[in-house]
Amino acid sequence: MRIEHIESFILHVPVTGASIADSTHSITHWGVVGARITTEDGTVGYGFTGTHAHLPSDQLITRCIDTCLAPLLLGENALDTERLWWRLARQPALQWVGRAGITTLAHAAVDVALWDLRAKAQQLPLWGLLGGAVREKVRAYNTDIGWLSLSDEALLRGAQTAVDEGYTGIKIKVGSSVERDLQRLRAVRRAVGEHITLAIDGNGKWDLPDCLRFCQAAEDCQVFWFEEPLWYDAVRAHAQLARATRIPLALGEQLYTVDAFAEFVGQQAVHWLQPDVTRMAGVTEVLRVIELAGAHRLPVAPHAGDMSQVHQHLNFSRTPCTVLEYIPWIRDCFEEPIRVVDGHYLPPQQPGASTTPTPQAWSRYRRPSA
Ligand code: MG
Repeated sequence: MRIEHIESFILHVPVTGASIADSTHSITHWGVVGARITTEDGTVGYGFTGTHAHLPSDQLITRCIDTCLAPLLLGENALDTERLWWRLARQPALQWVGRAGITTLAHAAVDVALWDLRAKAQQLPLWGLLGGAVREKVRAYNTDIGWLSLSDEALLRGAQTAVDEGYTGIKIKVGSSVERDLQRLRAVRRAVGEHITLAIDGNGKWDLPDCLRFCQAAEDCQVFWFEEPLWYDAVRAHAQLARATRIPLALGEQLYTVDAFAEFVGQQAVHWLQPDVTRMAGVTEVLRVIELAGAHRLPVAPHAGDMSQVHQHLNFSRTPCTVLEYIPWIRDCFEEPIRVVDGHYLPPQQPGASTTPTPQAWSRYRRPSA
């Protein structure tokens, strides 16, 4: 399957309501910044990274795809995902300007598109290409009810609605003040009852003393995990927190390489691994993280920079991937959107990685990629 053409694209898709915020970010749209790769037999693969829909920075990614990555891939066999991954990762000039960041996000889009092509060539959904299903359905947890920008009333109403819809897991944001977030956590726990999985996410805002204070007071709330409690790269501080609390720690949405995950695992600084195909260099690198997790008997809960279009395939085919985030923002942009029924993902059936946009999304949300 010789690669004949590569073209970047940008879609900006509105979030639920007018805007959402956590402790660190406030956004109105989600950016679907990707690559469309066509092979000589006419097969088309799509892959994308996820952004905050800031056009100038999105265009840095598309420029990297069009001017730096595409020339390295044209004429190559699209089925050689591992070889091509290393061809991009080892390109000396690119490696020099960025082993993480824009170059990795661009690499992610291209790698996912290659896996989409490979699955389409085999006429299999990606989970089938990866070895078949290890589970019939995947437990979803709902993040879209838990934003820090929601009023207390809206937070409780959303949590209750999610439970009524069949979700057995929800996640709420923390990272404002310790006292306010404790009060919101306790109110949500009271509202949903003790049998609902309740995770919290700090988005890296607090320092170690605030995290310690919060965790000591929250230990009776049955917190499923505390996600990104501290600054993203602070391995030793996470290890200190992990030793000090019974609440499991989760992280990974801001880590670019399997080596970064290995450092956290080696320092016993994490309990739940959260790699993201849109943050790391695609499916190829995330599969390495899942192998790492399996070897250490740690669970994986992928972070949904792709809003789970791609990650669902990993959860269906890889044992350590036990739960998956649910945020519906970009669902309706794809030929085969994610399907969640009674709080569980159902397996995609169409060949590929569930990344092919609909013509309607293409015309409605497309922004200039240069
Ligand atoms: Mg998070």
